[in-house]
Amino acid sequence: MTHFLMIPQILEQQRDFFSKGTTKNITFRKKALIRLRKAIIQQEDRICDALYKDFKKPKFEALATETQFVLAELNHMIKKIDLWTRPEKVGASWSNFPSNDYIYCQPYGTVLIIAPWNYPFQLCLAPLIGALVAGNTAVVKPSELTPNTANIIAEIISEVFDPEYVTVVQGGVEVSQALLKERWDYIFFTGSTRVGKIVYQSAAEHLTPVTLELGGKNPCIIDETANLKLTAKRICWGKFINAGQTCLAPDYLLVHHSVKNALVKELINVIEDSFGKDIQKSDSFARIAFERHFNGLIAMLEGEELLYGGNHNKEEHYLQPTLVDEPSLDSPVMEDEIFGPILPILSYDQGEDIDKVLKNYAKPLALYVFSSRRKFQKKLISKYDFGGGAINDTVVQIVNKELPFGGVGGSGIGAYHGKHSFELFSHRKGIVKRATWLDIPLRYAPYKLPVKWVKQFKRLL
Ligand code: NAD
Repeated sequence: MTHFLMIPQILEQQRDFFSKGTTKNITFRKKALIRLRKAIIQQEDRICDALYKDFKKPKFEALATETQFVLAELNHMIKKIDLWTRPEKVGASWSNFPSNDYIYCQPYGTVLIIAPWNYPFQLCLAPLIGALVAGNTAVVKPSELTPNTANIIAEIISEVFDPEYVTVVQGGVEVSQALLKERWDYIFFTGSTRVGKIVYQSAAEHLTPVTLELGGKNPCIIDETANLKLTAKRICWGKFINAGQTCLAPDYLLVHHSVKNALVKELINVIEDSFGKDIQKSDSFARIAFERHFNGLIAMLEGEELLYGGNHNKEEHYLQPTLVDEPSLDSPVMEDEIFGPILPILSYDQGEDIDKVLKNYAKPLALYVFSSRRKFQKKLISKYDFGGGAINDTVVQIVNKELPFGGVGGSGIGAYHGKHSFELFSHRKGIVKRATWLDIPLRYAPYKLPVKWVKQFKRLL
């Protein structure tokens, strides 16, 4: 781990190291990824313990959404790195005849990764793997709000890598600000839209490219043809995993009024089947990560009509899964992303009612639609702007490495995972390799070609 006062020195060291060209060697990158994989496998139980200490993340969730998720990403990268890093041959232009044209993927240089607290292991490591597979060096700043996980990440990284290649800098806002003062070759930020704007401004100072993985208010729309039992199961899973502290979680439901009561009944059944009647005792339900956030969630419930839940315990940062009935659009629970186990349920009658709700918010990270009507599914998917989504499920789009994961507009810039990560952290250099055995003289001055011929150039370009 690097102390934050040493940020300028570490950046200098990483730049020197990068300029030596070592990271351009594919075998070097592959070995680094393999070392990281080995360390994560060895430390998997300790990582899960750290996540439990930070906010009682259930072991199943710690494995499925953090360590195993990262290991799957690592396996995929290790398998594909040789293929992805080959220069990509593309079609040539007739006007350049004879030539061979390629895209070369080149690392940017030194990457800064700033991560949030909700998936504190995955959201440090998944971008890091992308940065490394593309041949960059990296400085990682985990969230200060999940200190146990931040410590184990720092320990693993310092065991596996020299700091001139990869290092962890720990700390809060002031450390993040000190990091953002420097000139990086790429910044990858995951967190709130508010801080995303600060990061974007800092990056603009040096024209540094950025990825911003932000949040948003993700709608989940259920029509009268949805299979309500299964819908309730899949909504509850996506909403209450990690106690709702998931950027992709459905934020609120918009359900056709004719099936609202039946859906609410199913949701309550699923909650109690999943976590029992005394949910505080369930070992399958996480806690709110820190007090400020817990207090904010409790405040959101003030004055709201509850269909279920609302019980809480401040000492434990426990908040029961809670269903809110028809909150007004200007109430705190409908103002911003909730990011907790509170699920507002609004009903609609016609398509225009859906428009009226969705137009109040910036483009969200996800949208979900539950329906058995293909026309309705298609209409919603193409009509609204959002990062990505699912039909008849929630959150699962994140597990397919072939799918880009990222937001649009208010929910972010750029997308990663699998090959998308490799491309994100690579500059794509276009190269034309001309042959020298032929040189058609038409383009050179003095220009002799009749104008009417030049007007046909578009056919050759
Ligand atoms: P946050 O923006 O408060 O903090 C994220 C990181 O930024 C932390 O490392 C923090 O130390 C740093 N930071 C905080 N204030 C800063 C400042 N003023 N200047 C510079 N750096 C600062 O976010 P959070 O509360 O940790 O995470 C929750 C948010 O993250 C939610 O909005 C959620 O939707 C979003 N999120 C998005 C994704 C995604 O992939 N799109 C994933 C997880 C979380």
